[in-house]
Amino acid sequence: MDEFSRLAINQFTTLQQWSLSEAIEGYARHGVHAIGVLRDKLLEIGATEARRQLRAHDVKATCYCIGGLLTDSDPALFRANLEATRQAIDEAAEIEAGCMVFVAGGLPEGSRDLPAARSRCLDGLAELLPYAREAGVTVALEPLHPMICAFRSCLSTLGQANDWIEELGGGPELGIVVDVYHVWWDPDMEVEIERAAGRISSFHVCDWLLETTDLRLDRGMMGDGVIDIRRIRDLVEATGYSGCREVEIFSARNWWRRDPDEVVEITKARYLSEVNGPARTE
Ligand code: ZN
Repeated sequence: MDEFSRLAINQFTTLQQWSLSEAIEGYARHGVHAIGVLRDKLLEIGATEARRQLRAHDVKATCYCIGGLLTDSDPALFRANLEATRQAIDEAAEIEAGCMVFVAGGLPEGSRDLPAARSRCLDGLAELLPYAREAGVTVALEPLHPMICAFRSCLSTLGQANDWIEELGGGPELGIVVDVYHVWWDPDMEVEIERAAGRISSFHVCDWLLETTDLRLDRGMMGDGVIDIRRIRDLVEATGYSGCREVEIFSARNWWRRDPDEVVEITKARYLSEVNGPARTE
């Protein structure tokens, strides 16, 4: 079997260098046939053209990023994001993405009411689910590290994602994204990954740099930081998850400034040495 058959690259990894067309062609040229697609990039060419290019290069869309941001207290803004998320669900369906990644949204400007933001997000999700079910798209909740709770995601842990899914009735259209960057620190990670069994729609890898310099945009390449990636991989795959291991690196100061072909080459090498091998024993 091809040693890269389970490798996917999320477009965020070459965000500043490549358009969607360039990323589809570029990843495929390097033998990577799975891509996490970014909505902003897709909208530059449209879903129909994206689907055509994906097929032409034999590349599958693992996940579609993102929909959500449903925490606004201003009803007009809330409705606008709900509508954008419905469109994202349609686009995810058109490119046959494995799931649409749902990011909750942070606190509205000027607000300190975190419980209210969470409750609006849950209301929005409840409203979206029938639409997603109809479209055949999995809405995959991605809990994000609590350091970005204020401006990006009031959904911070896998435990909270599992709770939300139960609260929303646990339908088949609800999934979870496990991203090592967001969950590695969590003392409840093991038990909550196990609890998410059957719902894990996407597994994202990168590394946490010991001396990170940015709340969002300074992720490391696998092997450059402190996360025991293969241990988390084993926990995720012990639940029955057999999808891609998707490399997703936000890196304004390093990887986004490099030659994208070099980034893909290094990603492949690190995938083999840090993600794909047997679990560490030390
Ligand atoms: Zn992610």
